[in-house]
Amino acid sequence: MANILKVLKGTKDILPQNIDMWHFIEQKADEVFSKYGFKEIRTPIIEVTELFSRGVGDTTDIVNKEMYTFEKSDRSITLRPENTAGVVRSYIENGMSRLSAPVKLWYKGPMFRYERPQAGRQRQFHQVGIEMFGIKQPTADAEVILMAVNYLKSIGLNDLDVEINSLGCPKCREEFKNKLKEVLKPYFNELCEDCQNRYEKNPLRLLDCKVESCKKIFAKPEIQEVINSDFICDECAEHYTELKLYLDKMGVKYTENKLLVRGLDYYNRTVFEIKSNNLGSQNAVAGGGRYDSLVGQLGGEPTPAVGFAMGMERLISLLPEKEPKKLDGYVVSNFPVDAFVLAEELRNQGLNVELDLTNKKFTKQLEKASKVAKYAFILGEDEILKHQVSIKNLEKGNQITVDRHCCVKMLEI
Ligand code: ATP
Ligand code: MG
Repeated sequence: MANILKVLKGTKDILPQNIDMWHFIEQKADEVFSKYGFKEIRTPIIEVTELFSRGVGDTTDIVNKEMYTFEKSDRSITLRPENTAGVVRSYIENGMSRLSAPVKLWYKGPMFRYERPQAGRQRQFHQVGIEMFGIKQPTADAEVILMAVNYLKSIGLNDLDVEINSLGCPKCREEFKNKLKEVLKPYFNELCEDCQNRYEKNPLRLLDCKVESCKKIFAKPEIQEVINSDFICDECAEHYTELKLYLDKMGVKYTENKLLVRGLDYYNRTVFEIKSNNLGSQNAVAGGGRYDSLVGQLGGEPTPAVGFAMGMERLISLLPEKEPKKLDGYVVSNFPVDAFVLAEELRNQGLNVELDLTNKKFTKQLEKASKVAKYAFILGEDEILKHQVSIKNLEKGNQITVDRHCCVKMLEI
């Protein structure tokens, strides 16, 4: 036998028996985000590589290690590792800054990162996310966090932890970065290789390091003192305080985490993550924040913005499994032509209906019906002559015979 080809490492089929759950979380996203005035946007999965090196930042793991990049006709092209950069590109390219603010967009779809596959981490995974453009006030940050929490509630996830932090603005952050570098300098040689590389380019990212020996260094009192110092300027502090006021008012529970810096370069002021205790080490279901400089950085009019992305596989792994949906009906008959016609009549009346296409024995058909459908629509000789149908409730076992034209109505009774 020829070699059986397998799905690529770190990628997965989403099989028909699991698709109901995907439809459920996608429909809820549409429903909840629409309530807040968000509209869906679909951008291409491939973009020019430069979009991500400029947009996500070339000091990030995503750009340095994780991108799927290839050449085609002398252009470097990348499978999107995230979708904020793509949405920002589209916002600029399609002149959305001329629309009255805020412009509110949401998306869903596959993302690609060349990471080590493990529980909760795939190379092709899916995100649902939102971006809001044009509002610098913390009301936007509050609305976005509130909406994320409400979306999670709507799919049945009520007890997740929201963590927030403020990264300040480029100005006040610069001072913080310098202080951090100064206090970490004596420990430079003890830091892991990644941290050593980030020390100059992106020192804030060090706080995000998961390596135990690095964590120990960050726990030292003189370093904790810098981490816990209120480095953000008055304006940034006011923004952050107001955000918290709105969250408190709306009953959104959160904890402040000074170590929360997020992996991407483009954030300023608000950053947040939503985590679950039931996910092991890959415990973040959502990440987001404010990115006021990105639109300008990618060539648009400077426009404040805030957004988040959620990992759909991680959401699904937290939800109880759903029984696959059954068909409404299965036509059972020894008269194949009449059965064929009835099945189509029922479909035209809005039911999901199948029938046996191979002329199997009546009892076999009934057996199949009870496995796959809620009702069997039975057409015997008598029923055909009288223009009737017998409907058997396959869960309860009871059966009634009704006029053919009202058999769908009978299901509602
Ligand atoms: P993590 O800390 O898990 O690596 P991240 O900071 O890289 O997350 P973001 O870029 O903020 O993640 O993406 C938002 C969400 O997308 C994450 O909170 C997570 O739920 C999901 N996600 C990110 N990378 C993966 C992956 N490789 N496989 C599955 N889900 C992922
Ligand atoms: Mg990551």
